[in-house]
Amino acid sequence: MLNGAYLTTVQNIPLYRIAAFDEYPHLSQAIFTRHGGVSQAPFASLNLGSSVGDAPEAVAHNMQQVYQTVGATRTQTVTCYLVHGIEVLTIEANNQQAMMGRADGLVTNCRGVHLVMRFADCTPLIFFDPVQEIIGLAHAGWRGTMQNMAGVMVTAMQRLGSQPNDIITVIGPAIGPCCYEVGAEVIQAAHENLAQPQTLFERPHGEQAYFNMWGANQQQLVTAGVTKIIPMNLCTACNTSQFFSHRAEKGRTGRFGVVIGLKA
Ligand SMILES: [Zn+2]
Repeated sequence: MLNGAYLTTVQNIPLYRIAAFDEYPHLSQAIFTRHGGVSQAPFASLNLGSSVGDAPEAVAHNMQQVYQTVGATRTQTVTCYLVHGIEVLTIEANNQQAMMGRADGLVTNCRGVHLVMRFADCTPLIFFDPVQEIIGLAHAGWRGTMQNMAGVMVTAMQRLGSQPNDIITVIGPAIGPCCYEVGAEVIQAAHENLAQPQTLFERPHGEQAYFNMWGANQQQLVTAGVTKIIPMNLCTACNTSQFFSHRAEKGRTGRFGVVIGLKA
């Protein structure tokens, strides 16, 4: 059993770290909350989303705060426009840019690269292979989950030399089966795309179905051969005092950051 996440503060900024990652000095990691920034409600306060209606100068300030907290400069960070697909980009020395374009997964083995993404209910998947020193970060909402984003990420890491059995994967804060009420579109997609859809829906309040996106991603990781999985079991919609939740805040909210990096 691997050690899970714990809440701490770095430079007065609250963030979660993964205890199992702490023993790797080359690794930089942070799962930020909504606190520690300068944005005003409904984006208060560490909003990293630049397309949600927040003041651009506040988002820029928050991004600088995030870079500083993880010990990186902007040129040492890489991100992408999240589009609910399953494209995974591999960052290499000759293609590294702060903005890589449209994708929902990033992997790299380059030292000095910090992968950054923004979330508010979709599942953050954080990958680290300590044997080959390969990292990955993915954004899996229900659409990405139906397309097996978790498995596609493992394949991308295998291309760089990873063995699935070596990869540690964190299923980060995302909307949980307690809150993720879904309609016919998601139920149908699950039955068409997932191996065990009957295990992933609950009906605690009658007819309405609640989807277990955490569980779907975990099943896909297991199918891909990953054995070291750390589910945070932290629901963004239950915890709007700590995280942004698109669903619980009816679309008027910000995005919290997740960073995984290899130090220079
Ligand atoms: Zn919940």
